[in-house]
Amino acid sequence: MTATRIPGMPAVEDGHLVSTNPATGAEVGRFPVADPAAVTAAVDRARDAAGWWAGLGQAARKERLLAWVALVTARIDEITGLIHDEGGKPVAEAVVETVGALDHVAWQAKNAKRVLGPRKVRSTVMLAEHSAWLEYQPYGVIGVIGPWNYPIFTPMGSIGCALAAGNAVVFKPSEYTPAVGQWLADTFAEVVPERPVFQVVHGLGDVGAALCRSTVDKVAFTGSTATGKKVMAACAESLTPVLVECGGKDAMIVDEDADLDAAASACTWGGLTNAGQTCVGIERVYVLESVYQPFLDRLVERAGKLKVGVGDDADIGPITMPSQVDVIRRHISDALDRGGRAVLGGPDAVQPPYVQPTILVDVPEDSAAVREETFGPTLTVAKVSTVDDAIARANAVRYGLGSAVFGKRRAMAIARRLRSGMTSVNATLTFAGMSTLPFGGVGDSGFGRIHGDDGLREFARAKAITKRRGPSLLPSTTFDRTPRHVELIKKALRLLHGRKR
Ligand code: NDP
Repeated sequence: MTATRIPGMPAVEDGHLVSTNPATGAEVGRFPVADPAAVTAAVDRARDAAGWWAGLGQAARKERLLAWVALVTARIDEITGLIHDEGGKPVAEAVVETVGALDHVAWQAKNAKRVLGPRKVRSTVMLAEHSAWLEYQPYGVIGVIGPWNYPIFTPMGSIGCALAAGNAVVFKPSEYTPAVGQWLADTFAEVVPERPVFQVVHGLGDVGAALCRSTVDKVAFTGSTATGKKVMAACAESLTPVLVECGGKDAMIVDEDADLDAAASACTWGGLTNAGQTCVGIERVYVLESVYQPFLDRLVERAGKLKVGVGDDADIGPITMPSQVDVIRRHISDALDRGGRAVLGGPDAVQPPYVQPTILVDVPEDSAAVREETFGPTLTVAKVSTVDDAIARANAVRYGLGSAVFGKRRAMAIARRLRSGMTSVNATLTFAGMSTLPFGGVGDSGFGRIHGDDGLREFARAKAITKRRGPSLLPSTTFDRTPRHVELIKKALRLLHGRKR
């Protein structure tokens, strides 16, 4: 089948997924579409590879993963050029994305043994005659389904943790970014040539659905909330566990004692980087009224200077997914129809495949631009009279992925009260790059975590072992116990827990 090509719109031609540049329409690569039998075959191969990879042990896996990190580092210009060609983002942004992904994988490789390895834990008084052991064992095969907006950083959060924990991976990249996904698997195979520990299957959403219904041991999904629900429903059929990283509508609060230049600078980048196509991108800003106007002036000035285009000097590239342009247009016009004002950009800012930075004020809190994920270079900025009001409005959406606070005296307290999985204080998005911290959301933003200790544990099963080390003083788990033993057990209970009333 030959489809009409729309720049950036994936087409299936002769059984191949054809990926194109969203700005120019130039072909970036073509990859065979996997049918359900091919997905099953990949998972079968992965199962065999998983046993081998797990058997290598932590030290050998660490060595291979660090070799992969070094290889990608050496070829950073190649991968960032590919990310630019396939997704449209400026090369400098692709470099930032790639560096973040590699830093995480290196940390995961170095810390997997500490986090997951066997350790002795304390025994309880009631079972003092047994020692207790804990370890985290790999699931086996992890199916990873990824989005297009950060085609290396986002899926690698799951892939790196899964591999470091000793699993094999079958990855279904977004249909918009198959070339980046294939490049990752190909380079991994250069450092792990023995078995297909990391494979890629290509295609549209039905290939992702087939992966959910294959025999993978866990699915790690990153994408929209709507698709996340479909993934959960498919996985429920076989009780396959899932990690679901979905969309966001991140808020930023600017308090009265904030450094306004720093706040405006961080907001400009945090809201408009990657043309706003960032799950943890700032989309809403709540500013205390005493600093509202000076903050807004600084923000508009900075955002107004950004260059939009595909050239080397561009700060913001095209909208990767053509259909998203309609969503951005609808959010802007709905905000304006309902009394909002554009202090930068506006309806004319939408010139597909580009959208110029747009800053909206006086937008009703129940409008689409405030409640739904826009995924474009737009920001709503609202004046609030108290911090409590700012927090209440920030927390009033169903999403809860990231957030940001600018201020001094109350900033940490505000951060703790924000209903989101992550918050940056006096910066935006920094939590995503911190390898020691978990990444994930609440509510419609999903559940489960990648990155950090929690991320590694997400890709492993807790295995608990007790080992008898002596005879039982309080024999409870035997029919040989006597009435006297039962009295002794009751007495021990009273001593341990009976006194605090
Ligand atoms: P989608 O939900 O459209 O797609 C995500 C992935 O799921 C793609 O690989 C897609 O394949 C696949 N898919 C589609 N239908 C199914 C199905 N029925 N079963 C299984 N898999 C399926 O999201 P986008 O790719 O458009 O990504 C943007 C979204 O991702 C935004 O909402 C963004 O906020 C979110 N995101 C969340 C992050 C987080 O960490 N929380 C990070 C980055 C993005 P195909 O592309 O072929 O349709």
